[in-house]
Amino acid sequence: MKYLDTPIEYLKGVGPKRAELLRAELGISNFNDLLYFFPFRYIDRSRFHTIREVNGDMPYVQIRGTISEIQLHGKQRTTRMTATLRDTTGTMELVWFRGFKWLKDAFNPGVEYIVFGKPTPFGPRFNIAHPEIEPVTPGAINQGSAMQPVYNSSEKLKSRGLDSKGIGKLVKNLLTLGRQHIFDTLPAGMLSSVKLMSRDEALSEIHFPTDEASLRKARARLKFEELFFIQLNLLRNKLLRQEKAKSYVFTTIGDYFNDFFYKKLSFELTGAQKRVMKEIRQDTLSGNQMNRLLQGDVGSGKTVVAVMSMLMALDNGYQACLMAPTEVLAFQHFESISAMLSELGIEVSLLTGSTKQAARREILSGLRQGSLQILIGTHALIEEVVQFDKLGMVVIDEQHRFGVAQRARLWSKSETPPHVLVMTATPIPRTLAMTLYGDLDVSVIDELPPGRKPIKTIHKYDRNRLMVFGFMLEEIKKGRQIYVVYPLIKESEKLDLKDLNDGYESIVREFPPPDYSVSIVHGQMKPAVKDYEMKRFVAGQTHIMVATTVIEVGIDVPNASVMVIESAERFGLSQLHQLRGRVGRGADQSYCILMSKDELSTDARKRLGVMVSTNDGFKIAETDLQLRGPGDIQGTQQSGIPELKIADLTQDEAILKYARAQARALLERDPGLQQPENAVVRKQLQELYSDQLHWSRIS
Ligand code: ADP
Ligand code: MG
Repeated sequence: MKYLDTPIEYLKGVGPKRAELLRAELGISNFNDLLYFFPFRYIDRSRFHTIREVNGDMPYVQIRGTISEIQLHGKQRTTRMTATLRDTTGTMELVWFRGFKWLKDAFNPGVEYIVFGKPTPFGPRFNIAHPEIEPVTPGAINQGSAMQPVYNSSEKLKSRGLDSKGIGKLVKNLLTLGRQHIFDTLPAGMLSSVKLMSRDEALSEIHFPTDEASLRKARARLKFEELFFIQLNLLRNKLLRQEKAKSYVFTTIGDYFNDFFYKKLSFELTGAQKRVMKEIRQDTLSGNQMNRLLQGDVGSGKTVVAVMSMLMALDNGYQACLMAPTEVLAFQHFESISAMLSELGIEVSLLTGSTKQAARREILSGLRQGSLQILIGTHALIEEVVQFDKLGMVVIDEQHRFGVAQRARLWSKSETPPHVLVMTATPIPRTLAMTLYGDLDVSVIDELPPGRKPIKTIHKYDRNRLMVFGFMLEEIKKGRQIYVVYPLIKESEKLDLKDLNDGYESIVREFPPPDYSVSIVHGQMKPAVKDYEMKRFVAGQTHIMVATTVIEVGIDVPNASVMVIESAERFGLSQLHQLRGRVGRGADQSYCILMSKDELSTDARKRLGVMVSTNDGFKIAETDLQLRGPGDIQGTQQSGIPELKIADLTQDEAILKYARAQARALLERDPGLQQPENAVVRKQLQELYSDQLHWSRIS
């Protein structure tokens, strides 16, 4: 076993009990984990403040003084303990809310202590709650380095002596004993050409920095390394696929494509759609498997691109399939694509979880014989029993709902891998796209079909509801339909459902039958009822659709011109944008009305502000990334976004690009990582991604 894989309990100062806690609370189970448990900030312990200097802007202060007048407050159950800290400039209060017993006799009058903590305003003055305190000794003062690490800890860990300081001690022990076991993962040549700090130095400096400059260098080195290996893995996979995954060559553009293009297509393609079609054409002519991500905002016209791509497969004698994340979406695709392809003599079927046995049997046999040419469906498509005769093109809609593994399962359906087109309407910031889909080629439809009126977005407070009702009435009188969406958050599901039902009732009161009809749809309904309601709205039989976010993705009702989002402050940005994309699909002016309460958090206000100011999905995605960080971007959770320990996709775009360029250059020089100097890289890559199947194929 490698030294750094040693279980954490064997580290000096740990033992079984603390090891269990470290594992449970911080996910630290071996030496390596501890080494990569970085401080979240540093504090200057070399500087002392006087009590008179203290103000509320200081994140922390360090004061030398005496402690007296220890008092317990509160009657039955003691609630608070205070003490007075005194230096030559004045006094301030220290306060504790627990640990009284131990504290009562902890301080000796007349002894000077070093008190450290965060000052908080308390009346006209400041106090410090739960300060760190130690007696002044020559050691204590000299040890106060300018940059001491601060680690996350927890109450449980603190009760076992593992507060930030305790964790720091463990790291120190580890670095003292184990530093010679920290090997570099980057070749020496790269270290010197890119001017990177060595790995052991970086890991030591990030915990106990000598100064600001070396901390910066250490962070840069570790960020680079983190991003470099992610990119190397992605690019290596791409290379591998290109080497091994030879796919079909679609030599012919034939009748299916031409008939559709010249006879059925009722509009001119946008420039962006044409460009993407050219890219797809080139991919399918290359002999390599296409793996292309198609990003395009809601309503940008991805479906027609998907259809034409599938027709190219058909023209060359292959089958095609399209997979959507929900039944409703699959159904809509089936309906609209069947209509687009009517009279072209093409066999199209729909397969979902609710397809009846008899129909299913027929579909499966048609697929195997090759008579069924296009299959549209849900996850049902990736089941083992679904076998194609010659699958040439796979389209996956709304990628963010599928994991990477599911993608792979689809294209492993035939011996020769089919071409794959992944479509997403959730614009992904560049850095995230590079990290998530770095092994795919990316196309962007950055142009909306002509004649679209930009959606007008308005923010209204709940107290203006009557005005909003009035507006809804006007739109309904014009013959339009309206969505009203309520949040449904897991934690408060009951309350949310109540809100939804109350809202539904008040809308029905405002828009009563028989003149008006209102649909309601939420996730707790039976699928059949939900479908029925949804279809009524799609068919224009109801005026208003009251719903939760189940309608978020893909639904296409061009006649719907108003989207009212209730409690909009509770939605994330990308969700708001998706919801807004449900309107503005026809030629009429559309509106999105964001309803909120009066008091909003700063972030919520920013979110609503961005929504009002732009319709540009990419701008919104960038803001989202900035506000929430990459881990929380909608849909990325299961789609294989690596957990980053130090790099930050909102800040480190430059390092990311550099790391990707370096990874690419390395693979160009040494695609198999065979050269002796690159052995360290190869080893690290293997270690990081040992669970990946295709690794075994690299020789
Ligand atoms: P999305 O990218 O959100 O899937 P769709 O493919 O559903 O968008 O297209 C939205 C609407 O725009 C559809 O009604 C489609 O027929 C129409 N459309 C697509 N491309 C064009 C175009 N070039 N010109 C005019 N209308 C278009
Ligand atoms: Mg779509």
